[in-house]
Amino acid sequence: MKWINHEVVTGVIVYAATDDLLLTIYSMAGAIVPDKLEGMPGNADYWSWRSRHRGWSHWPVLYALLYGLIAWNEGNPDAAFRFGELAQIGQYFCIGALLHIAEDALCGKVPFLLPSRKIGVKLFKVGSFTEYFVCIAIVAVCYGLKVNGWIF
Ligand SMILES: [Zn+2]
Repeated sequence: MKWINHEVVTGVIVYAATDDLLLTIYSMAGAIVPDKLEGMPGNADYWSWRSRHRGWSHWPVLYALLYGLIAWNEGNPDAAFRFGELAQIGQYFCIGALLHIAEDALCGKVPFLLPSRKIGVKLFKVGSFTEYFVCIAIVAVCYGLKVNGWIF
């Protein structure tokens, strides 16, 4: 999925769920983390990049563990240090990264429980009209659910 669509879909889902613009911004920042960690394909080393594409940087267990570690620390009365607002930023970064991975799983395979075992479906090709259509559909569903108060 293209970055603009990751940003839009993640932002809409988190805003629909939280009604909080700051949390939305934190998650949108996290929504580009997996691809940023992976790096950009260069002309000279395209096949090297391709072999690492959607590898450990797209492993959801990393972000889930980080989310859980932050939650555990913030909820632990014996914690030596609490991060306060930074903890919330970190958690929503992780949520954004997890949504990025879920969104990538709609257009190819991503790691799941093990970094080497990938799952996903190929509903569309990245950058295709269908990708934009699917993103608009997700936004419309979130809007419909929010407006009708059915969920969130
Ligand atoms: Zn990605």
